[in-house]
Amino acid sequence: MQEQLRSLIEYQILEDKKAGLLQDYEEAPRRIAAIEKEFSQLEGEYLSRKAEHENAQRMHGMVEQNITDLEAKIARSKRRMNDVKTNKEYQAIMREIDEYKKEISAKEDKALELMAEIEKLAGEVAEKEKEVEKQRLVAAESKRRLQEENALLKERLDRLEEAQTKVRQKMDQNVQKKTEFLLKRQAGIAVAAVENGVCSECHLNIPPQKFIELQRDESLMQCPHCHRFVYYPGHDCYKLTAEDFENL
Ligand SMILES: [Zn+2]
Repeated sequence: MQEQLRSLIEYQILEDKKAGLLQDYEEAPRRIAAIEKEFSQLEGEYLSRKAEHENAQRMHGMVEQNITDLEAKIARSKRRMNDVKTNKEYQAIMREIDEYKKEISAKEDKALELMAEIEKLAGEVAEKEKEVEKQRLVAAESKRRLQEENALLKERLDRLEEAQTKVRQKMDQNVQKKTEFLLKRQAGIAVAAVENGVCSECHLNIPPQKFIELQRDESLMQCPHCHRFVYYPGHDCYKLTAEDFENL
């Protein structure tokens, strides 16, 4: 058995485990951001509905004030009637009062319209508020769970990293360097089994003489096509799987 090759296979298994966890680990911040975005959209709808409701109330208040002012004007006009000297003056004041009354009638229609609007908006605001409060809790809980899961993932990743460091200490500098290079260049896979003379990663044949050499297991070899390190899985010492590292 070649210690270097066995270490390399161990290193690869740890690397695969890390890659599997990293996907979830890196996905978490995006998922949290999506939860926050969805909630803030809902909250935004609630706040804009609330602003509409407050605006309608303010407008209703203004219309009511207009009506009060117009009524005061009518009262003033009526008082002036006591002092009129001519029929013409009397007619003028009557017309003035009629105008005010017409304005009041229009304002009253507007006030009714606004009241209906306010009532409708109040219902919508209450409904949205309930939904927002419910979703606030749901979003917080989802975020908390994701953060908790990610903290556990981080712990596992750290343990795998630590284990890799230990394995690296058993590897020659040269092998380490080539391994890192292959991991980067060859889709995260630096070592491949060769079965029936075929590299299990690039699926190309290695020359028969090389395959015989590989089975003798005397020196570290690389696939002539993809340059990954290769091993013959017929040797039990290289038959490692993720289950051999279950505790990590
Ligand atoms: Zn290959």
